[in-house]
Amino acid sequence: MNGIDYVTEYEYVTVALLCVLMGLYCARRKFHTPSNTLFLMMMFYTFLSAVMHIITTKTLNAADTLPLWLNYTIHIGYLLAYDFIAIMYMIYVIAITKRSHIELMDRVLACVITAGYVIGLLTTPWTKLIIYFDENMNYCHGPLFLSLPIMALMILLYSLLLFIRYRKELKPAQNIAIVIFTAFTTVATIVQLILPEQIIGNFAIALSLVMFLISLENPADYIDSSTGCSNSAAFYITIDSFISHRRSFSAVAFRPDGLNYFTQLIGLKESNRLCAGIAGQLMSKLDTKEFYFLGDWTFVVITDIKHSPSREEAVKLISEFFDSPLKINGSDAAVTPYICTFAYPDFAESVKDVIDSIDYTLRYTIKHNIPVAAATSEAIEAKKREMRILADINQCIINNSFEMYYQPLYDVQSGRFISAEALIRMRDSELGFISPEEFIPLAEANGLILQIGELAFRSVCEFLKSGCAQKLGVEYIEVNLSVIQCLQEKLASQFIEIMDEYSIDPRLINFEITETAGLANYDILIKNMKQLIAHGVTFSMDDYGTGFSTANYLINLPTDTVKIDKSILWPAMESGEAFIILRHTIEMLKSLRKKIVVEGVETAEMVRLLSEIGCDYLQGYYYSKPVPADAYVDFLKENAFAGENTTVTE
Ligand code: C2E
Ligand code: CA
Ligand code: CA
Repeated sequence: MNGIDYVTEYEYVTVALLCVLMGLYCARRKFHTPSNTLFLMMMFYTFLSAVMHIITTKTLNAADTLPLWLNYTIHIGYLLAYDFIAIMYMIYVIAITKRSHIELMDRVLACVITAGYVIGLLTTPWTKLIIYFDENMNYCHGPLFLSLPIMALMILLYSLLLFIRYRKELKPAQNIAIVIFTAFTTVATIVQLILPEQIIGNFAIALSLVMFLISLENPADYIDSSTGCSNSAAFYITIDSFISHRRSFSAVAFRPDGLNYFTQLIGLKESNRLCAGIAGQLMSKLDTKEFYFLGDWTFVVITDIKHSPSREEAVKLISEFFDSPLKINGSDAAVTPYICTFAYPDFAESVKDVIDSIDYTLRYTIKHNIPVAAATSEAIEAKKREMRILADINQCIINNSFEMYYQPLYDVQSGRFISAEALIRMRDSELGFISPEEFIPLAEANGLILQIGELAFRSVCEFLKSGCAQKLGVEYIEVNLSVIQCLQEKLASQFIEIMDEYSIDPRLINFEITETAGLANYDILIKNMKQLIAHGVTFSMDDYGTGFSTANYLINLPTDTVKIDKSILWPAMESGEAFIILRHTIEMLKSLRKKIVVEGVETAEMVRLLSEIGCDYLQGYYYSKPVPADAYVDFLKENAFAGENTTVTE
């Protein structure tokens, strides 16, 4: 085989091109992913292979002046570098098609091929199977030389099959990169077999690496643009890599609470700046780059690994940071961080488990006002239940299969059941009855409450359209509205349209709204209320006594009825002081000329006391639990005109 006049110009171009590619690669901010690392190795081996190849062609004609071992070292080095590119390429394709989980079969395959190459080439000076130097120091191909290009082609073929199978999971640029690589290297291998002097393999690879650089995971994909922290995609990859290598780590996630009010005031841009400020200061305080922003004001620090603090230290530093109020637009905002700690290995088996348990625990800590809590396997179970309930909600929306129950309201003065509260019900084939206390907050968090609200209202209109309740003395039905609904610009016009559609007199409807802490923008709410009131609808303020900005709401919102919550009534039956609070609450509301409903009336004793201190309407299990529409009509038939001393027991 000696005596061929190899064309080396391609290799010079290859070396130059790779210098540029490696320069570009190093200049870019990198995020560590398996495919990025493999790309770097492919560049390195191609560079090495081109340089070694130049050396082999230069030394080929002077082989007899060099020691035999050096000749072998140069040639074997070149062939190893060249063949390693193919192996790296195969692992690269495996990595991008199956993300970080390289299956056992692939590992074995990669090891066997590598071992085959290494053993075959390292033993060739003795076996003379692949290459050898004859007695005149001429470079010759052994009988198995062709196994090298054949093996390379087989690797290409296997990578191609993988690509065809998983191509849908790849980004378009990755697809193009692989097609180009396969086409270029196949053509180059064939050309080389036909025209051995045209050594264009490295050149073809270098050209396709340009495409790989473009398709490479863009570091910007892993940075959250508003905070400058690593984002949820980066968190996913990092945690996935920890879990697949069974490396232990811990994490501290936190969500600052108390910012809602300010962020509504300052707008999105300023909120993002505030978020970035918090992230930047905490990152330097914790002195780590393992700081992630998952969106929705949720930050996570990976702890107990190299260059990161311990879990305890992170919790302490985060709590300390929020001890002093944040400066927002010149005012001081007291912010509470709710913190969730997490440890691996403990119970989590996948990234999803990690993210789900952190998310659930954070929401739990905020709801129950617990400053620091550890994520547990129960959180995963609870999150699964939530997902199931969300699926149920979606199903019920599609099939319109929510049920509407009615709980009568007793008018103390007339002794009649003049109204009822409409309460929604949902059932799951396995979980059974799901309380609205559980599914309504979930629907609110996911925006599904808007569809539920509409269906619920339609159901009440349908019920009223039949007119049975009205004939039995019912004057209006109370319909619960979620705050999310009240903040929709079009709520009033939408609901007026629905009433028109069912030909419902708006005076038959009373909407219950709840006080909500930290609502910065009352404008839309008040606009909706005024528009509906102008139409004839009335409003009640629900759950009075459980909220925060009570006085504000009483003064600013045009409600004519206030519903006192059971949490004010029940203690009043137990203690004298609590009774004084209830009595004064009622007196105060009376002087504001509000009508008063008391909820949670369960005993005759409650009825007697509440009637004495001037409540207008009573609602509770003492009269009836919420019941389906038919049962409610039956109840009305039995009790509608029962007179002043009605006492109905379940
Ligand atoms: P809420 O508006 O405060 O409704 C009153 C809740 O107290 C109802 O629970 C009712 O069944 C319960 N209740 C009434 N009287 C008594 C009593 O004497 N003793 C006891 N222990 N409980 C009593 P429910 O039906 O489970 O509803 C829970 C919450 O779900 C409601 O609280 C309301 O906030 C929400 N909800 C229900 N239906 C709807 C709806 O259609 N839309 C919206 N947005 N929320 C709804
Ligand atoms: Ca209510
Ligand atoms: Ca209530």
